[in-house]
Amino acid sequence: MTETVQTERSLILVKPDGFRRGLTGEVIRRIEAKGYTLVALAVVTPTREQLAAHYAEHEGKPFYEPLLEFMSSGPAAALVIEGEECIKGFRSLAGATKPTEAAPGTIRGDLGRKWSGTVDENIVHGSDSPESAAREIGIWFPGL
Ligand code: ADP
Ligand code: MG
Repeated sequence: MTETVQTERSLILVKPDGFRRGLTGEVIRRIEAKGYTLVALAVVTPTREQLAAHYAEHEGKPFYEPLLEFMSSGPAAALVIEGEECIKGFRSLAGATKPTEAAPGTIRGDLGRKWSGTVDENIVHGSDSPESAAREIGIWFPGL
């Protein structure tokens, strides 16, 4: 029996910490080296409205306000990537949420370092499901 592998899209953000540190190119390099295609790429200054929509699932959690504060602290890069199982695949490239727990070889494990005291500044965001990807692509690239 042959396994069906889905070609899908994922929404990636190089968060303000990664953008500020000049790591956008390194993130893109890893995405391309993995074989994923760039579908859209923009430098964005996230608005409160975009972030509230993007992080709606976390509303009310202790790190929610610091997270929105951090995410609006400067420009970021927004990307749509495409490839076979790229949603799960990018999350493997990104590594665990906490940089201190992320494995070496991953973006967060190799390059993440900062715990701000209230929020994990972990360089990248990647969608976690096809539903989230569709919703998040609509937030950052309406009309795509
Ligand atoms: P991921 O980005 O790995 O999907 P989550 O969706 O759980 O992680 O959380 C969104 C973001 O909120 C994380 O990437 C991180 O920046 C921050 N965050 C999540 N959990 C915590 C926590 N317990 N303490 C501080 N910051 C957190
Ligand atoms: Mg998440």
